[in-house]
Amino acid sequence: MVVGCFRITTRKARELRVSIDLTRCAGYGNCVDAAEAVFEMSDVDDIAVVLLAEPGPDLWESVRKAARVCPANAIVIDEADE
Ligand code: SF4
Repeated sequence: MVVGCFRITTRKARELRVSIDLTRCAGYGNCVDAAEAVFEMSDVDDIAVVLLAEPGPDLWESVRKAARVCPANAIVIDEADE
């Protein structure tokens, strides 16, 4: 009898960097609502700024959510895998 053997691996990000494409940002503020520890609205211009370009893993899900809810697709996430 042949018994199959396989391994399931889950790739996990080990690093996450976030930035905002300021040519796209239209100041909706959804990113701040989703991740207020990472983004805030600028006092000067009606755009968002990044407070934490390399947030800790505890904030990654809120950063990904911010990218999903940004109507302008202005949030750029760079994740490095293990
Ligand atoms: S949600 Fe997108 S468009 Fe709105 S402020 Fe944030 S980055 Fe800018």
